[in-house]
Amino acid sequence: REGREMIPTAKAFQLMTLLRGLQVEELSKPELTGEWEYKLAQMEQGKLSRATFMAEIAAMTEHIVKKAKEYDRDTVPGDYATVTTPCPTCGGVVKENYRRYTCTGADGASEGCGFSFGKTPAGRTFEPAEVEQFMRDKKIGPLDGFRSKAGWPFVAEMALKYNEEEKNWKLEFDFGDDKKNEDGGEIVEFTDESLGVCPKCGGAVHEHGSNYVCSKAVPTNEQPTPSCDFKTGKLILQQPVEREQIIKLLTSGKTDVLDKFVSNRTRRPFKAMLAWNPEEGKVTFEFEQREGGKKYPPRKTAATKTPFGKAAAKKTAAKTAKTPAAKKVAKPAAEKTPRKAAVGTLKPSPALMAVIGDGTYARTEVVKKIWDYIKANNLQDPADKRSIKADGKLQAVFGKDSATMFELAGIIGKHLS
Ligand SMILES: [Zn+2]
Ligand SMILES: [Zn+2]
Repeated sequence: REGREMIPTAKAFQLMTLLRGLQVEELSKPELTGEWEYKLAQMEQGKLSRATFMAEIAAMTEHIVKKAKEYDRDTVPGDYATVTTPCPTCGGVVKENYRRYTCTGADGASEGCGFSFGKTPAGRTFEPAEVEQFMRDKKIGPLDGFRSKAGWPFVAEMALKYNEEEKNWKLEFDFGDDKKNEDGGEIVEFTDESLGVCPKCGGAVHEHGSNYVCSKAVPTNEQPTPSCDFKTGKLILQQPVEREQIIKLLTSGKTDVLDKFVSNRTRRPFKAMLAWNPEEGKVTFEFEQREGGKKYPPRKTAATKTPFGKAAAKKTAAKTAKTPAAKKVAKPAAEKTPRKAAVGTLKPSPALMAVIGDGTYARTEVVKKIWDYIKANNLQDPADKRSIKADGKLQAVFGKDSATMFELAGIIGKHLS
């Protein structure tokens, strides 16, 4: 959706083609609903009998079901594209049909050599321009918007690779070599300079495969069992995230405004900052306040209900500015199952114990408990939520009147043994 306009996706065009091809176009037309409404009104006034109306509906349903049964997936007629790049196997003409891109031989009208690939690999439908690029370069990506069989979104490159057995070119997903050992439990050795301090646990953040990760979120020689789960992608919705931006994120809480994000749903570009969100415990989108923001006033009711006052109102305003598409894409990360928390063996100092209670903790638990305390006592500076104003108990821990959330991990370290 863009404003009041609905933007159809490639998938929507495919459905329209199917309905047209099946000659059940009536289903694709808004007039159908209008016509039904009209007939219902006529029935109400006794001008049309119920039996007549139902007979019409039954006849139409029968027609649709009959057509759908006749439908052979690969032969649905439609207005299909011809790919400019020739077939890599035989040099023939590659054409689109309802479900696939298929070689149709040198004359563009015969059986072809068998070269073909699906239009919607892993739930993501090729855009026409992508097909041209894919055929020409024999690879494309990384692209996101794919869905695994279990429904998880994933990012991948696709390549056309020659298959010796079938003597033909095939579409393959290419996750790259580093992706393979990312979750394989192998010991990781970082080769780059640390980008900064993990906002979750204070560990060093490094590049790893297609992500920036906390060094405690992967198995290392120092710590074979990961205790943290902080990571953020090098490519997010087609936007490359450079090292300098991650350094900014880790020191100031957010990146610059990046303008090459592309919404998965609408395929429209959008601008946003990436920001560490301590409440959600992950990196999320943050949008610039619009000029003359009166169009989206913060909802007063929401602001007064929360203990955060101004800060909450500000957040509401930012949320309103989010496009629905961006919200949707940010969500899947939250659905992922978090890593099992490491068993806590750390003992807090007396000052810290006064805040989080006696016991033994994992570092991440301590961070969470401190945040719970900060929120329960409304200690975030309303003007800058990243700044924490210490009360008596926290002063003893901080050794000063205030601290930023980025200092927190370091401060906590001094109070654990
Ligand atoms: Zn061919
Ligand atoms: Zn960490």
